[in-house]
Amino acid sequence: MAKTERGMKILMIEDDLTLCELVGSFLRKKGYKFYQHNTFEGAIQSVYDVRPDLIIMDLHFPDGNGLHLCKQLKDDENFENLPILVLTGRDYPVEKDIALKAGVTDFFHKPMVYSKLAEKIEEVLGDAIQVSFWGVRGSIPCPGKEFSQFGGNTTCVQIKVPAQKQLLILDAGTGIRNLGNQLLEEEEPVAGRIFITHPHWDHIQGFPFFKPLFSERNKFDVYMPQQITGSTKEVLVDQVSYTYSPITAQMFKAHLDFHAIKRDGQNFEGYSVRYISANHPVETAIYKFEIGMKKIVFCPDNELNTLENSSMRGKNLPYLKQFDAFVSDADLLIHNAQYDLEEYRSMENRGHSAWELVVERAKKNGVKHLILTHFGPEFTDDELLKVEEKVKKMARDSSMHAELAREGQTIHMSG
Ligand SMILES: [Zn+2]
Ligand SMILES: [Zn+2]
Repeated sequence: MAKTERGMKILMIEDDLTLCELVGSFLRKKGYKFYQHNTFEGAIQSVYDVRPDLIIMDLHFPDGNGLHLCKQLKDDENFENLPILVLTGRDYPVEKDIALKAGVTDFFHKPMVYSKLAEKIEEVLGDAIQVSFWGVRGSIPCPGKEFSQFGGNTTCVQIKVPAQKQLLILDAGTGIRNLGNQLLEEEEPVAGRIFITHPHWDHIQGFPFFKPLFSERNKFDVYMPQQITGSTKEVLVDQVSYTYSPITAQMFKAHLDFHAIKRDGQNFEGYSVRYISANHPVETAIYKFEIGMKKIVFCPDNELNTLENSSMRGKNLPYLKQFDAFVSDADLLIHNAQYDLEEYRSMENRGHSAWELVVERAKKNGVKHLILTHFGPEFTDDELLKVEEKVKKMARDSSMHAELAREGQTIHMSG
């Protein structure tokens, strides 16, 4: 794994020797090189000697105050960008404010949760995979206060691959507009790959409003399964034809390359991707990304019908077998949950799923983390909160973690 190869150095400045041993053994197992220094005196010298990639420190030493150390490091041009995580046994809000103002990256209270510390370290050192949800709706955007908690934009997900600058974006529903606006704030040229599952509007409608497309400094490769109606380029560019849009494809100044994605696998720097066809009208991908040891399956549109008495039962069985094999043991499955079961019974054969059947199937397939998404526009926040409660209840008798996606949410996958 990347971090083991890179062997990032972590220095812990802490007078509690037992805690140092515990944190040290935890971080060594994660592949980090661990160093410790146990007094205030000499701590700066120790930073010079070790040259760590990250510091974990206490604020209170018998022989000094850690805040002075933070300030000294931030004033030193060799260390001004060095991330510092504070671990303290005292809980004074004012102290936290002062520490954050002094440039401390984050603040943890003892006793701390090791997984949280690991997540933070991986995030800070760029070692964690981050999955961000920019749009979680299906079919049509639904603005309004009753949708504000889960969000009203249609499907768009971003994956940050450790040590990769190239963007990885999944689908270009209306959520991609906010992602584009955030990227422009960074003022650097933007390059990346956009994997579209299929050309239904709720997955491509944000594409012409993705502002990085309008600068010649930027570069994107766009992938989609081959459609009967035309190439990836034709399908995406058709939606901005003169009749339907004041934006036309000639206005895109970024360097754009369009591709039909290969079914059996393609390798890129830092990850590989494969797909199988979803049970959905038009050719629709269920993508599987393998990043290091992690498998992430993205399946925003898919009809997972496991009902015994369904009219789809016969033709569905071979498909289910293929689906099961593809998602088996996924570390993260992001799956369609357009309806609840009651609504679904009158909506069979439209290409979407009931959340109850998805939770059941994900459990059966040993999925480690399930995130439901692509909620039908009829689902208000109140209703979705109730669904989430039931989802968690259903998952309780398994080791699977299950939840609903929220716009603006980022999850960290630690190694
Ligand atoms: Zn959709
Ligand atoms: Zn669709």
